Amino acid sequence: MKAAVIHNHGGLECVTIDDVPEPKAGEGEVMLDVRSAALNHLDIWVRKGRPGLSLNMPYVLGSDGAGVVAELGPNTHGINIGDEVIVNPGLSCGYCESCRRGQQSECVSFGIVGMSRPGTFAEKVAVPSRNVFAKPSHLSFDEAAALPLSYQTAWRMLMSRARFRTGETVLINGIGGGVALAALQLAKLAGAEVIVTSSSDEKLSKAQAIGADHTINYKTVADLIGTVKEITGGRGVDIVVDSVGAATWSNNFKVVRKGGRIVLCGVTSGPETTTNLQALYWNQLTVMGSTMGSDEDVRQLLRAVETAKLKPVVDSSHPLEEIRAAMGRMEAAEQFGKIVVRVSE
Ligand SMILES: [Zn+2]
Repeated sequence: MKAAVIHNHGGLECVTIDDVPEPKAGEGEVMLDVRSAALNHLDIWVRKGRPGLSLNMPYVLGSDGAGVVAELGPNTHGINIGDEVIVNPGLSCGYCESCRRGQQSECVSFGIVGMSRPGTFAEKVAVPSRNVFAKPSHLSFDEAAALPLSYQTAWRMLMSRARFRTGETVLINGIGGGVALAALQLAKLAGAEVIVTSSSDEKLSKAQAIGADHTINYKTVADLIGTVKEITGGRGVDIVVDSVGAATWSNNFKVVRKGGRIVLCGVTSGPETTTNLQALYWNQLTVMGSTMGSDEDVRQLLRAVETAKLKPVVDSSHPLEEIRAAMGRMEAAEQFGKIVVRVSE
């Protein structure tokens, strides 16, 4: 079968379209004919390699996917051949303490499709049957593929971790990336007043068009913190949603209200930074990390998506053969929304 693979870690040139053996649906697994897959920063990290990551090469990249169930392994229940589904890429053991508490993304052996087992940038992918969910009927395969990783991450950050309450003010750093845009759409759906930041006026005006109440160009604004204070009547925002990390970290502590929450994932600008501990304790802030979502987060997200007929923001859709250009676009942070590759029509 056709797949986007790496033979070794490195730059974009490591990604090739190869003919590789088809996976098999093992015990409790299903195999899908992949129609569309979406890119995530994780694909770049896996391609480049990171300490402790050891892969059997050639390795199929890709975490997000949508397709049609083509084969059922032994002991799969409630799924039929021909079902149109999306893949939840979060892999959990199902029996550790966290899994038993229903906190699958806290699993002791938590993994992700495309890093912990071969991914979705392929004509076929095998995944545990409990990782497939019905494709929302109002979404195309491209739109459905854009949903799982970013939108469950944003859902968990806002709803399960920061425990968003209607009417609160949310600041989202770096609008344009998948998680940031998902957070914008979900926060608006839940009744938030949303401030977004970017260095691109074009991205800010697009964010406004999909509901952002206030936009700030952090490159050109004279006083970012003063502007946020002005918007919020001097108090600061209730919640900061940060998928940027090092580059935005210190400002998070200046734009959040006393007693506010800062919720972090992804750290696309880097993991190391300094923290003003005085601001943290004096202002009684809560800082929390967040990783993907629990099964319940995914179920709640999909219910909200179905009910509101919400459509993920798709930046662009490319044939699988153009995966390098698609990845390059994400690495240059040129995208507004999810970048999708069409694996088969
Ligand atoms: Zn577990």
